Amino acid sequence: MADFSIDPAFQEQLDWIREFVKTEVEPLDLAFAGEDMVYNKASAFYEEAIRPLQQVVKDRGLWSCHLTPEYGGQGYGQVQLAYMNEILGRSQFGPTVFGNQAPDSGNAEIIAHYGTAEQKAKYLEPLLDGRISSCYSMTEPQGGADPGVFKCSAVRDGDEWVIDGEKWFSSSLRYASFLIVMVITDPDVAVHKGASMFLVPADSPGIEVVRNVGVGQEHEGHGGHAYVRYNSVRVPADHLLGGEGQAFAIAQTRLGGGRLHHAMRTVGAVSRCLDMLCERALSRTTQGELLARKQATQEKIADSFIELLQFKLQVLHAAWVVDQKGGHGARKEIAAVKVATPKVYREAVLRTMQLHGALGVSNEMPLANMLMASVTMGIADGPTEVHKFTVAREVLKGYSPAEGDWPSEHLPERRAAARAEYADLLERSVADL
Ligand SMILES: Cc1cc2nc3c(=O)[nH]c(=O)nc-3n(C[C@H](O)[C@H](O)[C@H](O)COP(=O)(O)OP(=O)(O)OC[C@H]3O[C@@H](n4cnc5c(N)ncnc54)[C@H](O)[C@@H]3O)c2cc1C
Repeated sequence: MADFSIDPAFQEQLDWIREFVKTEVEPLDLAFAGEDMVYNKASAFYEEAIRPLQQVVKDRGLWSCHLTPEYGGQGYGQVQLAYMNEILGRSQFGPTVFGNQAPDSGNAEIIAHYGTAEQKAKYLEPLLDGRISSCYSMTEPQGGADPGVFKCSAVRDGDEWVIDGEKWFSSSLRYASFLIVMVITDPDVAVHKGASMFLVPADSPGIEVVRNVGVGQEHEGHGGHAYVRYNSVRVPADHLLGGEGQAFAIAQTRLGGGRLHHAMRTVGAVSRCLDMLCERALSRTTQGELLARKQATQEKIADSFIELLQFKLQVLHAAWVVDQKGGHGARKEIAAVKVATPKVYREAVLRTMQLHGALGVSNEMPLANMLMASVTMGIADGPTEVHKFTVAREVLKGYSPAEGDWPSEHLPERRAAARAEYADLLERSVADL
């Protein structure tokens, strides 16, 4: 039976995290907004404002909880991480202060899993320590959801590989010390066998950022997602991550956990929407009564609460399945959560926006940014349609075709069979009439 219980010691940690995020971390969101601030680890801001808070988290034993103790984490199970990420999801800086900011968290996971001792010493240690940032470079301009269209390739040349091609939406490349780049190394086999991953130092000659792309209303050129060209970029052969042709297995290790953690943080964002919705309902009077007294408002509150509760339980359940069966065994549940995440988030934001009127769509509330974030959730890490396909494929594995020409629920057939079983009794019942 699924178990989402919280033991008293962990509850104490959660209470501490909630208070710490509210008093120490959320003010950073307000004073220092902007993606740059999260990833620029060489800035005075990072040194003076972020690192002291990270030290408090480390002293409290809550740093990078998703990693095993061997890598400086706590080895928390996914259910514990779900409760924790829900709180961190209320703040932009929360994941950074607690050592689980994407894409670094996912990149660290795959180097820990597939990296050699040298790769771990050079890239993983400073990454885990929060000293450097990294970038994950997989999507290409001509397509992200279908790796079959990837063209960026690497060719072996002596002790080096030479990478040529383009990548798109390589987030936070601007501040990365290294990139993990997925490339085709064997064009003669299917892409899931012919793609490999490389650790590429960000200062390698030939890496050309065509431009940094923003989302929504970010100013042109100021976005955090690089359109990048690899012009015969040379990497030493020992910078291959895992084996040749292993890129897909590695990507799955990274993306499964990442998708679930995004969903956990979205629970926090959706509950923040509900808080704003309810506060507004109890604060604004129109036509002589509080908005909270209007049936239309009550419907919004009920819908938001019910969907939040359903979503939170779905996320906890998926987390529990991962704890029981591992990420691969939970791919149906993770894909289902990935599909639900943008939908629940978007609906919650829209209701809250609506109730705030002009203020709701203004740049004086966090809601417009949240709306863009909710749409993004349906695209990044694979679009909703593709995850629905995974859910359906996995669900169908539990079924088989009907045996005859009719569905197994076809009433005339079932009724005839039931009547045959009770023929005696039916006959006597008719005789008694
Ligand atoms: C904020 C953000 C950050 C990102 N960060 C990174 C990063 O750091 N590194 C990285 O490599 N990538 C990153 N991405 C890219 C992301 O992974 C891709 O956008 C995603 O995989 C979809 O690829 P695409 O944009 O090329 O869309 P496409 O593959 O062109 O798909 C476009 C649309 O077509 C439809 N579609 C696609 N496939 C199917 C299908 N099989 N069936 C039905 N409909 C379908 C869907 O509606 C889909 O949204 C990021 C994206 C965003 C938005």
